[in-house]
Amino acid sequence: EFVSVSELANMMDVNVNEVISTCMSLGLFVSINQRLDAETLTVVADEFGYKVEFVSADIQESIDDADEEDSEENLVPRSPIVTVMGHVDHGKTSLLDYIRSTNVIAGEAGGITQHIGAYHVTLDEGKDITFLDTPGHEAFTAMRARGAQVTDIAIIIVAADDNVMPQTVEAINHASAAGVPIVFAINKIDKPGANPERIKEELANMNYLVEEWGGKYQSHDISAKQGKGIEDLLEKVLLEAEMLELNANPKKRAAGTIIESSLDRGRGYVATVLVQSGTLKSGDIVLAGQYFGHIKAMFNERNQKIEEAGPAQPAIILGLDGAPQAGDNFHVMENERDARGIANKREQLAREQGLRSQKHITLDEIGRRIAIGNFQELNLIIKGDVDGSVEALSDSLIKLSTEEIQVNVKHKAVGQISESDILLAAASEAIVIGFQVRPSLSARKLAEREQIDIRLYSIIYDAINEIRTAMEGMLSPDI
Ligand code: GDP
Repeated sequence: EFVSVSELANMMDVNVNEVISTCMSLGLFVSINQRLDAETLTVVADEFGYKVEFVSADIQESIDDADEEDSEENLVPRSPIVTVMGHVDHGKTSLLDYIRSTNVIAGEAGGITQHIGAYHVTLDEGKDITFLDTPGHEAFTAMRARGAQVTDIAIIIVAADDNVMPQTVEAINHASAAGVPIVFAINKIDKPGANPERIKEELANMNYLVEEWGGKYQSHDISAKQGKGIEDLLEKVLLEAEMLELNANPKKRAAGTIIESSLDRGRGYVATVLVQSGTLKSGDIVLAGQYFGHIKAMFNERNQKIEEAGPAQPAIILGLDGAPQAGDNFHVMENERDARGIANKREQLAREQGLRSQKHITLDEIGRRIAIGNFQELNLIIKGDVDGSVEALSDSLIKLSTEEIQVNVKHKAVGQISESDILLAAASEAIVIGFQVRPSLSARKLAEREQIDIRLYSIIYDAINEIRTAMEGMLSPDI
């Protein structure tokens, strides 16, 4: 089993629905993510006039090898990976900078002076946290949209001299859509006029009840500027992490995610990677996106040369033959021939298709997906012109849920449809609904590129009716 239905559609540059209906005509009921065996692949591709070559079969195997079920005895605890999100100017950068420069408690001599996109700090009692130093929910969701689930816990920072702001709500919804637990940091408590209780009340009004208020969300009052309360905040993050029982197998070829990459005049291509499983070693052959290479040298966030990096550890690697994108996965390969093979194949595919991204769900496709029986959740993002209609529309749409299909509203807000809405839709397979609002120019371009379905309405009834019809499977053109 090599290629999924949607991957095959992508490779042949045809609509995924056509592949599914071709399979149906051959008596095969397949879902979009289902992997096809060699024989089916050959037959289906043939229907579209393509010949299948199995050059990549052993290559895929060699990637799969490393992903093999991790047996209990190989799993060891790993540090949590944490992202900081919040409204602009509420203190994301200040918090990350403070932690980076002080290395908080058990400080190895001095702090970390360079920005590499991620860093690892040791707290009391040898407990560690890895921070993604690319703050903001846009970076977080852009990575998710590329298929990278990196973050274990989100710190949502809110300035106590301000209010819960639209981007605070966005950050909360982006973290929730990813299923990532949240710890609140109420910042700037040193400022005159700061009122942390007001923030907690505003959060309560959104149904995010902090612990002091009898809820389940941990929260701590801090001053990122003065470093007040930060140790305690991180203790709470560690508590949250304990409940997640984070484990990884360090005894296999490494795999993980590209956090940043660039071309450095002296050193060639430089990439910051985060190892998520296995152990990355100097000299390893790394495949990342369309690029590959032997690791010529590897450094930690303190610019010290290292030979190895284990799970949840970031590392700077030199030796790739290009700059992969943030959010691309990387894999250590057994040999250079395989790495080169896949890298070339990916490059060729990307060239042939332009830079086409994977296809996302559309309203028209829902009927067919339901018919195949692999569609249980309809995710929506709702933007509107006034709060009342956003709430009314959201309530009505959620009520359309049936026993078979749950309607989820991943994010709703007043305002035009933004790039961040499109990213969230791409990352959580959602359809975007605009009521009396339109997408911004950049959002429209991004939606075209990512193939996100945006539906615009000016009458609430029309929106409800169309979604209901789609859910009843009536919108599918030719099933
Ligand atoms: P970001 O946009 O969320 O990354 O916010 P920054 O970290 O850049 O902070 C925005 C502004 O708020 C800067 O001028 C910071 O110096 C200031 N600031 C951040 N944290 C605190 C704090 O705890 N107390 C005070 N008084 N100012 C802060």
